Amino acid sequence: MPVAFTRFRACGLAALLLSACTDQESPQPAPAVNEHLVLGNPSGATTDAAKPTNYLLEKPQYALSYHRDRGLPNWVAWHLSPDWLGNAARQDDFRPDAALPAGWYQVQASSYVGSGFDRGHHCPSADRTRSAADNSATFLMTNMGPQAPNHNQRTWARLEDYCRSLVEDGQELYIVCGSYGRGGTGSNGYALTLDRGRVTVPAHYWKVIVALPVGEQDAQRVGREARIIAVDVPNDNDVSSNWASYRTSVDAIEQATGYDLLSAVPQATQATVEARVDNGPTQ
Ligand code: MN
Ligand code: MN
Repeated sequence: MPVAFTRFRACGLAALLLSACTDQESPQPAPAVNEHLVLGNPSGATTDAAKPTNYLLEKPQYALSYHRDRGLPNWVAWHLSPDWLGNAARQDDFRPDAALPAGWYQVQASSYVGSGFDRGHHCPSADRTRSAADNSATFLMTNMGPQAPNHNQRTWARLEDYCRSLVEDGQELYIVCGSYGRGGTGSNGYALTLDRGRVTVPAHYWKVIVALPVGEQDAQRVGREARIIAVDVPNDNDVSSNWASYRTSVDAIEQATGYDLLSAVPQATQATVEARVDNGPTQ
């Protein structure tokens, strides 16, 4: 009864007479949620080029919030599941990202040369090996940040390897990785920027990993089934290679960055899990 009544009201008499009314009761298809943002968009990034410090770029392989004036992403988010892993070779085709709005500076493949910082992937090359095209997408400079070599090649690399080992053990992961602050110490010492000031050297890199047994309804089962690992590592060439010594809570990263991580997870679950510090296995 209520349905029929509502439909009649929505159509109106004139439309009924013309037999031309649209059915107001048809459910609208839900907008497709980006696979990489199932657990949320930490900074509420949008594709509005008038907000250049929090600009959303969605690619098939990952999603990110770009900061035009820092010349690097605020964060990059990606889903890591068995589907994404294959045998594609490392493409090594570092290049500017032409998907940025017209007129924005595009960081170049050569922008970090001589700086003492690596072109550090956010979404790692080895997490995208299903096809050459997927792997190549990780070499866009919008997926890079200046990272102290020991940080990139030891601490971060070992954590990245550990993530893939979890996938090999039957988990699917939602990973979000970003930076904050200004000033880091690479192999040539301390620096605030590179590329004539067009790229900021972050003070810290952080990462939040949500690991779930492969399944469905992922945001809804975080409270019951997820292991959450959060790390915050100074961008310093003297960092320990042991990523586990940098474990922290999601709450601490939210405090440092101002973002709301896991925002698509029910609020009560966030309140519980974001306060914890992981103490699980590390290899
Ligand atoms: Mn790396
Ligand atoms: Mn949160």
